[in-house]
Formats: sequence, C-alpha cells, structure tokens
Amino acid sequence: PGGPGGGRAQTIAPPGVRHIVAVASGKGGVGKSTTAANLALALAARGQRVGVFDADIYGPSMPRMLGLTGQRPGVVNDRIQPLQTLGLKVMSIGFLMNEEDPVVWRGPMVMGALEQMLRDVDWGELDVMVVDMPPGTGDTQLTMSQRVPLAGAVIVSTPQDIALLDARKGLNMFRRVDVPVLGIVENMSYYVCPNCGHREEVFAHGGAKATAAQMGCRFLGDIPLDIQIRVNADAGTPIVVSDPEGPHARAYLGIADAI
Ligand code: ADP
Repeated sequence: PGGPGGGRAQTIAPPGVRHIVAVASGKGGVGKSTTAANLALALAARGQRVGVFDADIYGPSMPRMLGLTGQRPGVVNDRIQPLQTLGLKVMSIGFLMNEEDPVVWRGPMVMGALEQMLRDVDWGELDVMVVDMPPGTGDTQLTMSQRVPLAGAVIVSTPQDIALLDARKGLNMFRRVDVPVLGIVENMSYYVCPNCGHREEVFAHGGAKATAAQMGCRFLGDIPLDIQIRVNADAGTPIVVSDPEGPHARAYLGIADAI
C-alpha cells in the first residue's frame, strides 16, 4: 500500500470536530479560497459552529480574506489557540510567518505542519471544519484525504474547459481515495454589467453543471464574477458578512444548505 487508494496510515482527527469538509479545485485562481471563506461564513450564519483550516501552505489566503493579517495565535496549556473572527475559528500557516515570506519547504515539512495544525491546535467543539485545500492533486491533497476523515469535498471550478478538465482530475482523486464528492460549484459563472445590466459569460457558462451531470455528482450552485465579491474578500469581510441579505450571500447560503 502507499499509493493513492492504498492502505490508510493512522488518521488524524481533531477530537471535537464532527464533520471535516474540504474545498478543493483543480487549478489555482478559480476562487476556491473565496468560496471556502464564504461557505464557512454561510454555515456559521446557519447556526453551525465552524472552523476554517487553511491547508494551502504555499499560498495561505485565509489571514487576508478573514481580516486577520499580522495576527498571531496564542498558546494556552501548550495548545495553539485558533484565531477567532466573524464567528469562525481559524488556523493558517500564514499566522506563523510574514505575509511576503515564501514557504520554502519540501513535502515532508508541509505534511508535518498540516498534522501539527490539526493535532496541536485547540479546535474545541466544531460542527464543521472547512478546509481550504491547495489547488491541484499533490501531497497535501493525498495526506488530507488519506489521513483526515473527510466527510466530503466540494470542488470549485470556473466554467471554461481547461478549468473543468482539472476539476475532473480533482474529483477523480477524491473518488480514488474514497472521499465523497459533495458537489461542484461554478464560480465566475457570468458577469452582469452594473451600468447597463448586460450579461456576459466571460469564461463560458454552465460547464460545471454539465460536468457534474457527466461525473454523476451534484451541482451545488453558481456564483457570478462580481467586483463586490473580490473587493470584500480582499478587505477581509467576505460578501456573506458584508452584504448578508444580498443575492451573493443567498447563493452561498444555498450552497451551505446543499452540502
Ligand atoms: P483560489 O483560492 O482558487 O486560488 P481565490 O479565492 O484566491 O482563488 O480567488 C482569486 C481572486 O479572484 C481573488 O482576488 C478573489 O477575490 C477573486 N474572486 C474569486 N471569486 C470571485 C468572484 N466570484 N467574483 C469576483 N472575484 C472573485
């Protein structure tokens, strides 16, 4: 054993966490972290106790997206305390380094850091831990899917063919390691001009729904390309909290309800 789908090493599961959901994508830049942050906030808005675990060691986005840049977690009784904001508990390697410093680590160091953030962080009682995975199907994905008891994975893709091709690879990886795929989200699905209302399908439209049907998994919903989603994510107040009654928040709540 040892290859994908081979024998399972000892699992790492934070004891008080009921469900661990990975948010994954085949490619970078499709909006996986934005989706993970908004989905976590949508679950919290539904009354769940939610943690966010940023497993994107080489490109952690959660400190900035959740307005926690420059903050450091405390330590109580030798246990690292996750940061708390917007009703979420959050842990990211980004809290342990300066924002512009690269992580120059080989795989085993990354695996060690992931394990430590799951084991030595005092996550407490959580209904859901949302894991922001790195893009692609590398070491981290394998470790997380084989060693962490994932309840399932949400795949984020933009609608163009090249992104969907990589999304299918991601989906097949989770299936190979027996992690249920909860469904696909189509991000940057269309753009509506705020001035004239014209709708443009910048990256094509509907590809994720078609892919979900082909692959026999659920389509969880689409999120448009919208400047407010980007501005609020950059500002550390994702759209679900900055405009909780708006159409985008409703879309993320719909995805939270579907998983
Ligand atoms: P990934 O995690 O897949 O690398 P990010 O979530 O970091 O992608 O998103 C990449 C960039 O695109 C960020 O600047 C983010 O604010 C922006 N973005 C993501 N989704 C949307 C969207 N639906 N509309 C507008 N901008 C978006």
